[in-house]
Amino acid sequence: MPNEGTEQVMLEASPDEIYDIELEHSLLEANKKLADENRALLDRHGITAIDFMGAIGSGKTTLITKLVERLKDRMGVAVFNGDATTSSDADAISKQNVPVVQIATINGCHLDANVVGKGLKRIQLEKLKLIFIENIGNLICPAEFPLGSRARVVVVSVTEGPWMVRKHPHMFLGAQVVVINKTDLADAMEVSVDQLIADVHKLKPDIRVIPTSCKRGIGIDEVAQTLLAI
Ligand code: MG
Ligand code: ZN
Repeated sequence: MPNEGTEQVMLEASPDEIYDIELEHSLLEANKKLADENRALLDRHGITAIDFMGAIGSGKTTLITKLVERLKDRMGVAVFNGDATTSSDADAISKQNVPVVQIATINGCHLDANVVGKGLKRIQLEKLKLIFIENIGNLICPAEFPLGSRARVVVVSVTEGPWMVRKHPHMFLGAQVVVINKTDLADAMEVSVDQLIADVHKLKPDIRVIPTSCKRGIGIDEVAQTLLAI
């Protein structure tokens, strides 16, 4: 009986095997230096940059759109949209009549400080107080690449299921704010928002977690107030 019983094989990749191929240490160091330069440039102009990480479909673009709607009459706001293949997010934000920088990564799976720095040279910083940066929809490597923002936000959707937080700890450890979106769908998805919040706080007890339904406009004001206080 060749298939009798079940056998679970555990194969653990060592960091040497994976990270040496995908992420050279020197590359991360170079990125960190450029991120610090971006931050210094932003600080000189009195601009707060916030970057948003999260899966495709978590609601990053919708959240940013709603934040821009609320804030653009009070202060200069610009948005950077990272996208591997399309301009759909930048097109959506452009309807808000704020400066938009679309960063096409050509299938690249994260933004880095270099490309964000290039974007900063392409817009008039003098008029801005706030820059929202939407990272590529990806839960792994954006966490490794700081961009020079003052805070990082992770957007999680209940549609990503109950394991989402526990499977992606690095994303949360490097963030200051977590938005748990699409809470109106939690019952249908049989996902507990309270459990997701508990999972986040277990990783990082002092992180701010805000439940939202961006489509319905729930929780957006709290996100806006939180980000402006950072
Ligand atoms: Mg998007
Ligand atoms: Zn990547």
